[in-house]
Amino acid sequence: MIIAIDGPAGAGKSTVARRLAERLGFRYLDTGAMYRALTWLALERDVDLDNGAELTALARENEVTVEEAGRVTVAGRDVSTAIRTVEIDRVVSSVARHHTVREVLRERQRALAAEGNAVMEGRDIGAVVCPGADVKVFLTAEAAERARRRTDERPGLGADALATDLRLRDARDAAQMEAAADAETIDTTDLTIDEVVDRIEALAATRTRG
Ligand code: C5P
Repeated sequence: MIIAIDGPAGAGKSTVARRLAERLGFRYLDTGAMYRALTWLALERDVDLDNGAELTALARENEVTVEEAGRVTVAGRDVSTAIRTVEIDRVVSSVARHHTVREVLRERQRALAAEGNAVMEGRDIGAVVCPGADVKVFLTAEAAERARRRTDERPGLGADALATDLRLRDARDAAQMEAAADAETIDTTDLTIDEVVDRIEALAATRTRG
């Protein structure tokens, strides 16, 4: 079974997807980490983020591994912490907007999905990467709440600056964001993590029962 969880930054995707995967004994696949790791590598190698061809070649030559426990590696380097910074937040959309880059990463994501039981989180999973996913969820949350959640993850930046960053990233990600027409939208603003996980688990149970 494949469970697709899409939505904007700060909607709760990662926490929910990880916990759901734990409960179900499924793999957790964070596709955002792949775009982040590629961005990290492009900055490290001084690749122009406007150069789609070069970025695509970089993606082809350097597979990003995303492990169960959250360890992310690219080009032999552990970038698990390095990819979760304000700097990467601010430029990752510039890498993700290149179509040919997306094709390379999507192909890998589909190969991972093909191994079976997984909770996959991203922006385009239900609509493009795995349109045949058994459960499709689109998580949303009010902008102020999303910024508040990010404050805990990016302690170096104030709430106002984070809110501005999120707004800019939303605008840049608009082209990448594809909600599947048959996705169930869950507004997580006033829900606990476990409440969201319960709802998705209930949806999955319906699918299992047919
Ligand atoms: O989910 P996360 O915030 O880690 O994603 C980082 C960035 O990667 C997003 O802002 C978006 O630009 C890109 N992304 C994407 N498609 C996905 C997952 C992430 O374009 N499936």
